[in-house]
Amino acid sequence: MAATRVTVIPGDGIGPDIMSATIRVLDALDCGLTYDYAIAGQTALDKGEDLVPQETLDLIEKNPVALKGPITTPVGKGFRSVNVTLRKHFDLFANLRPALSIPGVRSRYDNVDIVTIRENIEGIYSGEGQTVSDDGERAELRSVITRKESKRLMRFAYEAARRLNRRKVTVVHKANIMKSTSGLFLDVARSIAKEYDDIEHEEMIVDNCAMQLVMNPHRFDVIVTTNLFGDILSDLCAGLTGGLGLAPGANVGEHKGIFEAVHGSAPDIAGQNIANPTALMLGAAMMLEYLERNEDAERMRKAIRFVVGEGKVTTPDLGGKASTSEFTDEVIRNL
Ligand code: NAD
Repeated sequence: MAATRVTVIPGDGIGPDIMSATIRVLDALDCGLTYDYAIAGQTALDKGEDLVPQETLDLIEKNPVALKGPITTPVGKGFRSVNVTLRKHFDLFANLRPALSIPGVRSRYDNVDIVTIRENIEGIYSGEGQTVSDDGERAELRSVITRKESKRLMRFAYEAARRLNRRKVTVVHKANIMKSTSGLFLDVARSIAKEYDDIEHEEMIVDNCAMQLVMNPHRFDVIVTTNLFGDILSDLCAGLTGGLGLAPGANVGEHKGIFEAVHGSAPDIAGQNIANPTALMLGAAMMLEYLERNEDAERMRKAIRFVVGEGKVTTPDLGGKASTSEFTDEVIRNL
């Protein structure tokens, strides 16, 4: 198979540690990937560049996929999130976040297997209409949902459910209160669901969904929802299966994918070589699948799940004593 170029953005905080660990595993797989390294976020600001330099945008544009480490979003005025910027710029309208239990990992439940599909470019996270009055007494943020984007997302969700042999799609909303935005989203969901009568369609209000996920996660299969709800619920799902250190995510558009870990830059443990690289490694496995290198993806995933599940060489977040590098060595030994 011809070589595929991947744009690699290590990010900041624990990003560089978990990215070099992930690249070591990809190299050990010897699946013919080559890399273009790029910067964004604080790393770019430190070099006197824009938050997302043009060169980075060009590299992401050039290659079919990118692998991205976590990036700190400076809190305060004037900084747009790098993630939001990239998702919008490259029209990555869907965010796939699988939460799959790993046998052996201590967690609240066994056998959780939920895929959250989150709308990625609209809603309250779009950053539109953010203002604070001059006296600092009133803040505003606009949420826009369109029929066009909701349709595209819903089709993507139902097609993904079919491809992944899933039985049910739960549409999560708050249409009882947010009658305009969530109401439109739900309306579109109902009409698209009719085209997929082989898949059960379910509707659930977001607060109830949060409770049901904690009480009985096994009743869920695929969850599809708007941006903010999806962000929160997918972290909840990650927590159900053993924590943020294990949860990957894929930002997908019509022609491009940016793959990452769900978690952030974890400044509290940065630079200590103890971060768990599993989430980003599983994100890289999703990237291999997207590139139709299914065998490599499966080899990588199997080795990671074996080492994590066995529990002998794991990082402190999973109760182990291993460093990021020792864990990575063990994954490579088990490929
Ligand atoms: P976080 O996900 O960085 O950390 C939350 C907790 O989980 C911390 O205690 C951290 O140590 C732990 N943790 C996270 N990943 C871990 C890993 N791989 N191994 C072991 N422990 C891990 O969330 P936060 O502290 O709220 O956010 C920090 C920064 O990251 C913020 O600036 C936020 O905006 C940014 N962020 C970026 C992304 C992204 O780039 N995709 C996602 C979420 C947050």
